[in-house]
Amino acid sequence: MADLVAAAATPRIPVRNASDGVLGDFPVRRIYCVGRNFADHAREMGAAAPASKEDRGSPVFFCKPADAIVIDGQVPYPPGTNNLHHEVELLVALGRDAPVGVLAPDAAMALVFGYGIGLDLTRRDLQAAAKAKGLPWDTGKAFDHSAPVSALLPADMIGDYTSLDISLQVNGETRQHGPLSDLIWDVGDILHELSKLYALRAGDVIFMGTPAGVGPLQVGDRYLARLGNLIELQGCIQPPQVA
Ligand code: MN
Repeated sequence: MADLVAAAATPRIPVRNASDGVLGDFPVRRIYCVGRNFADHAREMGAAAPASKEDRGSPVFFCKPADAIVIDGQVPYPPGTNNLHHEVELLVALGRDAPVGVLAPDAAMALVFGYGIGLDLTRRDLQAAAKAKGLPWDTGKAFDHSAPVSALLPADMIGDYTSLDISLQVNGETRQHGPLSDLIWDVGDILHELSKLYALRAGDVIFMGTPAGVGPLQVGDRYLARLGNLIELQGCIQPPQVA
């Protein structure tokens, strides 16, 4: 049957090799995000950081719509906020459907297609108001253009991601920097926990949580996010879009 409505196509993220050649596209199905996955960031947000792995409880998950993806780095300042914040995060892209059931962390790693770097952009004022009332975070987190991402690198070109750092500069000044060895929940742990709640599928992207140093972005700010020295995402905050 023919489509009766001209809806937007599935968002796609380019996949590159180490010499920046384009290999193809990664179609995005869902975006899962992890909250409070670095102890220093949990503390800066006023939450307790776990003393040990045994003490960490369950991870905080939320979602963004797939069409929040931005691939050219250009982000219009969103409506409804006076406090747009950056959160630089490791991206994990899944290349295979998970088998039915809960995945062991080691087995879950076999689903990983590749890695990238991205920003979990946040309307912090709306998130803070929702938190204060015990309401969902959707308006603070799941808005249009809230997920600028780099190209993806296939996992076999990354090696051991825990040896890498993620960082963010704004207008040339370092705002965030953290080693991925500091993740409270590593990639295998997070896929294991997600598999208790959702059927993971090829095309799913996970934002792995941010280190300390989150802060505001203004119109005209230029940002540069890096995953080690392997992948970069550069962009700029543009004036608000007007209807
Ligand atoms: Mn985040």
